[in-house]
Amino acid sequence: MKIHEYQAKEILKKYNIPIQEGYAIENSADIDSTIKKVQADFNCEAVIVKAQIHAGGRGKGGGVKYCPTFEDAQGAANTILGMNLITHQTGPEGKMVNKILITEALDIEKEYYFAITFDRSKNSDVFIVSSEGGVDIEEVAENNPDQIIKAWIDDSPNALESAVKEIITSLSLEEFENVEQMFKDLYKCYLESDCSLLEINPLVSTTSNEIIALDAKVDIDSNSLFRHPEIAAYHDKSEEDPLELKAAEYGLNYIKLDGNVGCMVNGAGLAMATMDIVKHCGGEPANFLDVGGAANVETIKNGFKIILSDKNVKSILINIFGGIVRCDRVANGVIQAVKELDLDVVVVVRLQGTNAKLAKKILDESDIELISAETINEAATKAVEMIK
Ligand code: ADP
Ligand code: MG
Repeated sequence: MKIHEYQAKEILKKYNIPIQEGYAIENSADIDSTIKKVQADFNCEAVIVKAQIHAGGRGKGGGVKYCPTFEDAQGAANTILGMNLITHQTGPEGKMVNKILITEALDIEKEYYFAITFDRSKNSDVFIVSSEGGVDIEEVAENNPDQIIKAWIDDSPNALESAVKEIITSLSLEEFENVEQMFKDLYKCYLESDCSLLEINPLVSTTSNEIIALDAKVDIDSNSLFRHPEIAAYHDKSEEDPLELKAAEYGLNYIKLDGNVGCMVNGAGLAMATMDIVKHCGGEPANFLDVGGAANVETIKNGFKIILSDKNVKSILINIFGGIVRCDRVANGVIQAVKELDLDVVVVVRLQGTNAKLAKKILDESDIELISAETINEAATKAVEMIK
């Protein structure tokens, strides 16, 4: 689960990580009083107004503004709150800014990149740091990869200690007090909050010789949310694709894609393979959809509803393997759902496994227009060809 910068900073603060202080708001009526409150509470004239969206690159996209005066801040806050912000991470359609963070401005001496994540290839957590942090970190990674330093925290007894020393040396931060403790606390925060990513870009040194987390991006392993009710409460539905939210309500695993062949499959592995074969046959999948191991009339119907809400869909490929679920039941479910929902797209059905023959008979004898196929190749080819 992604969370906002201001929420990530709330978590960091609990671990004594020095953060840039500020207040988040969502109503334009609160703009003036919040700017004044930031100026008073943190004893500053200049403030920064920052769009809170689940995407990075806000600075370059115009979503982070330095405001030397109250009037500048007023102008920036009114512009950014409610704007459609386009960054290199939002895609061309951009994201609506429903919240802004108004924070103290700091006099930055230097910007560093800092992250902790899990490195699957080494089976251990890894610190990733660079002394060339800030808004151009992607370019640094692309053009000067040797400026990105990694230190792994394997399961040897002093792994954390030595990884922390390594990053302090590589960033030349020895002169700063408490950075060793800060990096250890960041790792503690990463572990205890079940983060899949904890990224601070930039981590800055200020002209008054402090180290401060200026930005924060924290991704939480969704499977751990049951043990973090306070983090689960950070979930911001407005940041999610409405179709994916609806699918989650139905208990379906759905990811919207850009193609026009809707896919309804049971099992994530088979769903991936189905998308591959659609592409292999020259088509583009409209979605990933795993209806789960126990597909029944209800799940099939809900699956159709979700797939059809995507106006790009021109054909639907149903690929179900009958293991526990019996194919004849799925066939009846498909027929019932197609009748009830009054579909106007081509539906290709491929059922294999338990009672597959019976299922094919049921589909062939039904009075609804379905194309049945026996192999996955045949099914995908038909689903793609029918569009043409
Ligand atoms: P994003 O990563 O989405 O672009 P950041 O929070 O990293 O957003 O802000 C982008 C840049 O804006 C930072 O790298 C920094 O140079 C500048 N910036 C952000 N907050 C402040 C601040 N409080 N004081 C001074 N500069 C800031
Ligand atoms: Mg940043």
